[in-house]
Amino acid sequence: SYDVLIVGGGHAGAQAAIALRQSGFDGSVAIVGDEPDPPYERPPLSKDYLAGDKSFERILIRPAAFWAERGISLRLGTRVAAVMPADHAVQTDAGERIGYRHLIWATGGQPRRLTCAGHDLVGVHAVRTRADTDRMIAELPRVGRVIVIGGGYIGLEAAAALVKHGKQVVLLEALDRVLARVAGEPLSRFYEAEHRAHGVDLRLGVAVDCIEGEGGRVASVRLADGERIACDMVIVGIGIIPSVQPLIDAGAAGGNGVAVDGRCRTSLPDVFAIGDCALHANRFAHGAAIRLESVQNANDQATLVAKLLTGADAAYDAVPWFWSNQYDLKLQTVGLSTGHDQAVLRGDPADRSFSVVYLRDGRVIALDCVNATRDYVQGRKLVLEGQVVAPERLADAGTALKDLQP
Ligand code: FAD
Repeated sequence: SYDVLIVGGGHAGAQAAIALRQSGFDGSVAIVGDEPDPPYERPPLSKDYLAGDKSFERILIRPAAFWAERGISLRLGTRVAAVMPADHAVQTDAGERIGYRHLIWATGGQPRRLTCAGHDLVGVHAVRTRADTDRMIAELPRVGRVIVIGGGYIGLEAAAALVKHGKQVVLLEALDRVLARVAGEPLSRFYEAEHRAHGVDLRLGVAVDCIEGEGGRVASVRLADGERIACDMVIVGIGIIPSVQPLIDAGAAGGNGVAVDGRCRTSLPDVFAIGDCALHANRFAHGAAIRLESVQNANDQATLVAKLLTGADAAYDAVPWFWSNQYDLKLQTVGLSTGHDQAVLRGDPADRSFSVVYLRDGRVIALDCVNATRDYVQGRKLVLEGQVVAPERLADAGTALKDLQP
C-alpha cells in the first residue's frame, strides 16, 4: 500500500511525483505505468526524436536514477485493470492488488484508430509512445512514400520530420483546412502553404475509404472517390480516446474523460485525475468542461494536486499554452481560440514571423505566434486578464503588445 499511488507514468504522473517531493511530502509514492520506460517527454516523438535529432536519453523527464533517489517507486510495464474505491485499492493486469491512501489517475489517452478495412495492416502507425516512434524509425530505410492521415499538430509535425528524412509525404485531411479544430484560418492557410513548399502533397477535404495491403503490409490508401495512392507507410494522427475505463467502471462520473472539479477531484473518494484524461471546467474555455491535451495542463494539474496533498489549498486556474515545431517554424500559443468571433493578423505571414490574435466579445482570448516569441510572452498577460483591445491596435505589429495594456 502507498500513501500516494499514481497510475500512469507520463507527463502528469511524473510531475505529480516530482512536485510531491518538492513540496516536502515524505510519505510513500509509487507510479504504476504500463510502458516499459521511465517517464519521458512525449512531444519529441513527432518532432526531433522522430527526425533522429535527439536520443531517447535526452527526452527522459528525469535521469533514470532520479526516481529511486527521491524514494519514488517506479512499477513499469504494469497496467491497472480495475479500481476498487471502497477498498482504496487497484488491481493490476497481473492480478496484483495495490492499496492507496490517495490515488492520482494520470493515464492520458489511446490514439484513436481508423475503423476502415486495413487499419491494422503492418506499416500503419499511431504516434503516442516511444514504441510507436521506434517502430516507425525501424521501418524508414524501406520506406519511400508515407501517407499521413490527419492534419492536426501531430500529423503536421510527423510530416515535417519525414520530409527531413527525405521521404515523399502525402497528407490527407478530411476537413477543408488543417488545424481546423485548434486554430483560425490564417494559421491553417500558412501551414498548408509551408508544407506544400516543402514538397508535401497536401489534400484537403478528402475521405479515406480503406487501406490496402500486399502480403500483410500496407501498400496503398484508397480514397472515397476511388483514387488509390500507393505508399509504404501510413501514419494516423486523428486524436485520442482518454484511458478512463477502469475509473468509469468503478463508478466515477465522466465519459469523454473522467470528470473532475476545480481541485482535480473525481467523484470517487480520494481519487484525483490529471492531464489529458481529466475533464474539467476551464476558465479559458468560458467555463466549458474540456480536456486539454498539453504538457502545460499535465504539469499544472499535477503540481496543483501535489499542493493539495501537502496541505495547501488552491483551484486550477492556469493559462493554457502549447507549442509546435515544424521545419524552422516555432509556433507558440497561449489561451484557447475556440469560440473566438474575431481573428486579427499581426505581421505578415510572408515574413514567416507573425501572430494571430483571437478575440471574443472584444476581449483577447488567445494568440498563435509563429516565430514571434515576443508576442507570445507579452500577449500572455492580455489573455490572462481578458483585455479589451481595439483590433486595429493589435494589428499594428510596430507596437509591442506590452504597450497595449491600459
Ligand atoms: P501521457 O503522457 O500519455 O501519460 C499517460 C501514461 O499512462 C502513458 O504512459 C500510458 O501508457 C499510461 N497508462 C494508460 N493507462 C494505464 C493503465 N491503466 N495503467 C498503467 N498505465 C497506464 N503537448 C504540448 O504541450 N506540446 C507539444 O508540442 C506536444 N506534442 C505532442 C506530440 C505527440 C506525438 C504527442 C503524442 C503528444 C504531444 N503533446 C504535446 C501532448 C502531451 O504530450 C500530452 O498532453 C501529455 O503527454 C499528457 O500527459 P499525461 O500524463 O496526461 O498523459
